[in-house]
Amino acid sequence: MENKVPELFGSMVFHEHVMKERLPKSTYKTMCKVMQEGKRLDKEVADIVANAMKDWAVEKGATHFTHWFQPMTGITAEKHDSFIAPAGDGQVIMEFSGKELIQGEPDASSFPNGGLRATFEARGYTAWDPTSFAFIKDDTLCIPTAFYSYGGQALDKKTPLLRSMEAFNKQAMRIIRLLGDTETSRVNTTVGSEQEYFLIEKDVYLKRKDLVYCGRTLYGAKPPKGQELDDHYFGAIKPRVKAFMYDLNQELWKLGILSKTEHNEVAPAQHELAPVFTTVNIACDHNQVTMELMKKVADKHGLVCLLHEKPFDGVNGSGKHNNWSISTDKGANLLEPGDSPAENTRFLLFLVALIKAVDEYQDMLRLSVASAGNDHRLGANEAPPAIVSMFVGEDLQAVLDSIESGVEYAGKDREMMKVGVHVLPRFFKDTTDRNRTSPFAFTGNKFEFRMLGSAVSIACPNFILNTIVAEELALLADELETAEDFTTAANELIRKTVIEHKRIIFNGNNYADEWVEEAEKRGLLNLKTTVDVMPYYLKEKNIATFTKHRVLTKEEIHSRYEILVENYIKVIHIEALTMLELAKKSILPAVSAYAKELAETITLKKQISTAINCKSEEGLLIALSDMCADFVDKQKALEDALSKAKNFENEQIVAEHYKDDVIPAMVALRAVADAMEEQVSEKYWPFPTYGELLFSVL
Ligand code: ADP
Ligand code: MG
Repeated sequence: MENKVPELFGSMVFHEHVMKERLPKSTYKTMCKVMQEGKRLDKEVADIVANAMKDWAVEKGATHFTHWFQPMTGITAEKHDSFIAPAGDGQVIMEFSGKELIQGEPDASSFPNGGLRATFEARGYTAWDPTSFAFIKDDTLCIPTAFYSYGGQALDKKTPLLRSMEAFNKQAMRIIRLLGDTETSRVNTTVGSEQEYFLIEKDVYLKRKDLVYCGRTLYGAKPPKGQELDDHYFGAIKPRVKAFMYDLNQELWKLGILSKTEHNEVAPAQHELAPVFTTVNIACDHNQVTMELMKKVADKHGLVCLLHEKPFDGVNGSGKHNNWSISTDKGANLLEPGDSPAENTRFLLFLVALIKAVDEYQDMLRLSVASAGNDHRLGANEAPPAIVSMFVGEDLQAVLDSIESGVEYAGKDREMMKVGVHVLPRFFKDTTDRNRTSPFAFTGNKFEFRMLGSAVSIACPNFILNTIVAEELALLADELETAEDFTTAANELIRKTVIEHKRIIFNGNNYADEWVEEAEKRGLLNLKTTVDVMPYYLKEKNIATFTKHRVLTKEEIHSRYEILVENYIKVIHIEALTMLELAKKSILPAVSAYAKELAETITLKKQISTAINCKSEEGLLIALSDMCADFVDKQKALEDALSKAKNFENEQIVAEHYKDDVIPAMVALRAVADAMEEQVSEKYWPFPTYGELLFSVL
């Protein structure tokens, strides 16, 4: 199969090569310009492209087309239209016009809009993003589109991302020109997003309503074995999982997605997939498709793919590492330090812009990964803490220290790795020693933002990252453009920025308690939960930056804030209701039934002879009966907490109530259930245990 991969790769994508083959030369040229420079397509060109696309898609078996977009739900949306048009003689022809390609008009009143759209103007528009290729999925030609309201306000995740790419390019190009580079004509940010996930047996999954409704388990006692032996990480991949990965790769490759690395992760049943990096908006589209296909392919294999950030308590949750860098159209990586980083002004300017951005916008970065699900991970000693900081590593730290002190950087003899086995090739110690605990780590020629939860769309973290760095680049450019001597001014600015923002750099262990104290001393933010970080969206400083670069308007920011708050409340509310339902309809009846068996056993034993020892059954019966009473009290407490939420008008206060009252009530309810699970016969327990879930795939 392997040698067929090059033919398979991208076979379902209307990519540049296909365009070159199928479009008239002049149309192809126009398309290239549109893709590279983000120009608008006129109607005639669009008609030609649409027709060629349709012919190609129909040859590949497609019958429908859809504008594929990314509403604020975090997943993708599509509404299929077939290509058929009546031919007048009872037959049909397959048609697809330029207009249909460029713009769609889905009735979009049911998507979250955070108050941006009144129902009387329920119309939404979708517009083709020609920088992302159309592709065929499920016999449908999918056209990647942005989604916005009647008034032009962004209702999706893609629009701000595209806008942020423009802002970034504009400001980065100012610096590039200042550096005397007249060749480069475009700067993009690039992303490779590593995706973690769990695979469990479908039969077992279906018996867990908490997983079905909420994507995570709300009850479950610890199994005797979890991840403590570290025997799963990078372990041999089981045949069922291997078969899944094989199929998934085939499907991803067909869609031109550069799926590259796969391995088992730390927790049992946990795995990871990493693609080769690409331009950020494509990386975002690809990650959405990857998540969707993971679920579909798993289903074909009788498995379920869990993308929730924390499906199981007590074992690691799943994240998504957002490897981020900056690339020019001439192929240069602007975060590449080169052999002498201390003299590399270009590298240093982009680096200090990034350092300043991360320091000044800790709140926005924390916000970009905030969700009810991710709150279970951040700061839980398995993922970076909720405190945003940056790791630069020993070598780069030495460069920054020398800039600060003014003492020339002598460079370091690179240390040879001593592996102790002569047959192994000798290699240099990686100069970025790969701190795994940092939320934002330099890894050679890119930064790895590690706070993302597995379920999140990478659009939000990346449009925020692009915008805040664009802002810092703009400020640098403002000063440098008016400087008398560029080199002196640049060196001074670099030094000043390092001194003013070095507090954000931390190269130690971010999981240690001392870091929390140290970070507090440094005045860094520690926004533990989504609710704590939400209000920062509306800070004047943040609104000013996002509006200045035309990434979000004030109204759009407000709408996003509202969607975040609403979503948080809804997620916890659904979880609480699911817990209550399981408590009443499954757990209590099961424990009662078991208690009844115990009681009957005691009676029977006593009937046979009062001399028979019934202590174990009696002890257990008493304990379980007490726990049941406690369990009912805890249910009541949760119900009370839920109904109290109705008393508050202000959404922020409701969200705080969910965080401070509802969640603790859920935790308390679960604790009693888990204690009962440990005592109740397996035969009676109403749903599969953690052991069965985590070790279900053989
Ligand atoms: P690790 O697991 O050690 O973090 P991986 O090799 O699994 O590393 O993942 C590294 C990721 O970084 C890959 O997705 C890779 O494509 C991506 N990457 C490499 N170079 C760049 C770059 N210049 N820009 C963005 N992402 C990059
Ligand atoms: Mg990684």
